[in-house]
Amino acid sequence: MRKIEKDIVVVGAGPAGSMTAKWAAQGGADVLMIEKRQEIGSPVRCAEGISKHWVEEVGITVNNKWVAREVRGAKIKSPSGHTFLVDEKNAGNEVGWVVDRVLFDKALAADAARAGTEIMVKTSATSLIWENGKIAGVRAQTYGEPIEIRAKCVVGADGYESQVGRWAGIDTSLKADDIDTCYQYRLTGIDYDPDYCEFTLGSAAPGGYVWIFPKDEDTANVGIGVQLSKVKHPADPKMYLDKFIAKRPGLKKGQPLEAVAGAVSICAPLDSVSMDNLVLVGDAARMIDPITGGGISIGCIAGMCAGKVLAKGVKANDLSMNTLQEYETMWRDRLENKQWRNWMAKEKLTTLSDETLDKIVHTFSQYGVEKLSVQDLLAVIKRHHPELVKEFEELI
Ligand code: FAD
Repeated sequence: MRKIEKDIVVVGAGPAGSMTAKWAAQGGADVLMIEKRQEIGSPVRCAEGISKHWVEEVGITVNNKWVAREVRGAKIKSPSGHTFLVDEKNAGNEVGWVVDRVLFDKALAADAARAGTEIMVKTSATSLIWENGKIAGVRAQTYGEPIEIRAKCVVGADGYESQVGRWAGIDTSLKADDIDTCYQYRLTGIDYDPDYCEFTLGSAAPGGYVWIFPKDEDTANVGIGVQLSKVKHPADPKMYLDKFIAKRPGLKKGQPLEAVAGAVSICAPLDSVSMDNLVLVGDAARMIDPITGGGISIGCIAGMCAGKVLAKGVKANDLSMNTLQEYETMWRDRLENKQWRNWMAKEKLTTLSDETLDKIVHTFSQYGVEKLSVQDLLAVIKRHHPELVKEFEELI
């Protein structure tokens, strides 16, 4: 069987994998990134919304090729139609640009390649190689040929359906309450406001929301996330979305260019995402904002943290937890508190009735909200409806 030797093997060429590969290679590591699909970035299972504020931090150069649409902000809608607007700068991790994920993911992989990463597509990891009780690489199939990739560290960047963590014995399992099942159309020929990302809360999308993310003047990603524990039949998310579209004449007249189904984790941060000679990043590590279901920015930031630490480990010839502990510290310092807070907020939000959501959104529309952060929103509610904040006492 063909054998390949590398310092680092990254499994999965999504945003988190490419970012990890780039930062590790830039730091001097010999990196191979493998991707099971034949085309990086395709097919897309994403609403494609990102904010602008983190992009520079992780070293991404903005390119008009992958920016499909720039938006002014977010429109949040209550079940009965109250609406408040938040400016793009303050609207959270998914609002700013709507990207073309096929081109965005390829651009990130190209950055990793420019830094020295070797990339293999149509190459699927099938199991871990263990040697003397230690992880020593992965077995894979490339164009149907079995190969062994020996590496000092394996990076599991294999997304929501990740197997790498499971193979290593890291518990990445999810409760039904901590999963949103999603369905999305790319609708064209619609009448809508192409300057705002729109989010509709309440029973239209039990435990989740309906989104409209603009792609151009008359085309948008129109999708829904429904909490898995509230799904009675696998076709429910599509049924809720179809109902929502049928009630909006501007959307109803549209035609679908594509339809996609997928899922996101909306859980609290995992206790550990690394062990000797292995790290998990991005969706594979359940790094997703539990309120919005957005994970591109978080995956990229964690990928940068992982890549920097892996490069150090390669230089020191130590990829045990001695070195990798720094990755845990770095990503937790940067991301963990917000994931915890938003998970606790999600636990409460998903229990609120349409009437309560109407009251809350009406309050925001009357008094304004500067920033779409759990703390800022709660401060406004506390000022005007202290009785509602009782539900969220531990978050304030
Ligand atoms: P992925 O992008 O999933 O990449 C993982 C890669 O690993 C894939 O290319 C896969 O083919 C590959 N792979 C898997 N197994 C193997 C294997 N065994 N061997 C080799 N390769 C393998 N986030 C946002 O920020 N904004 C949004 O608007 C947004 N909308 C979303 C809408 C929907 C419907 C869904 C489902 C998700 C959405 N997300 C959004 C979440 C976002 O898509 C993910 O958080 C993001 O893609 C995570 O990046 P990643 O690199 O961790 O994983």
